[in-house]
Amino acid sequence: MLFWRTHHLPQTLLSSTSKFSQTAHRNMTTITSSTTIPDDFTTHLRSSTRILALLGAGLSASSGLPTFRGAGGLWRSNDATSLATPEAFHANPSLVWQFYSYRRHQALKAQPNAAHYALAELARRRPEFLTISQNVDGLSQRAGHVRGRGGLELLHGSLFEVRCTGFECDFVNEEDFRDPIAEALRLEDDGRDISSADVPLREVGIEELPHCPKCGENLLRPG
Ligand SMILES: [Zn+2]
Repeated sequence: MLFWRTHHLPQTLLSSTSKFSQTAHRNMTTITSSTTIPDDFTTHLRSSTRILALLGAGLSASSGLPTFRGAGGLWRSNDATSLATPEAFHANPSLVWQFYSYRRHQALKAQPNAAHYALAELARRRPEFLTISQNVDGLSQRAGHVRGRGGLELLHGSLFEVRCTGFECDFVNEEDFRDPIAEALRLEDDGRDISSADVPLREVGIEELPHCPKCGENLLRPG
């Protein structure tokens, strides 16, 4: 088995300024014949029958997406990890939706890089190829990397997965890429960064938060 971590990926694959344009993912020959990729890597990849790629934050950083950990782990003086909990949503769904909307908006402004496209193409060509990602930013999915069925498995879920809070409703959407997801959560790129506690946060009522399209009654929550 070839165990492939993204920080071991050849830098050429990770660099958005490489000669591999985002259309080069259609041509793996171009990628694998590059002289910047070590021959033994290419040979080993081609001869492997079971391949596992483990993706981490470095892959997103190459698309210009900072991690919260890198920014000190705070969002408006709240511990970012404590906002991403069912308890926080129950206590203040408006604040949690604004936190998620902010992160969704940042992720959607970033673009998948050449490595995302290469991994998605490899998954299409090699059904036995498995990818496990720690990233929640949706960049792999936007590069065409399909979730489930042995393709892309998300260790920490996705910012773009939403589900109904109703006990009797089973609505789930794994890829809700709307931005904003509700009009009251719209973010303008006007230089005011609401992750800073110094920037006023608008009041958003419960009725303005995203609601389930299936039952029509209950709030949606981040997945
Ligand atoms: Zn529902």
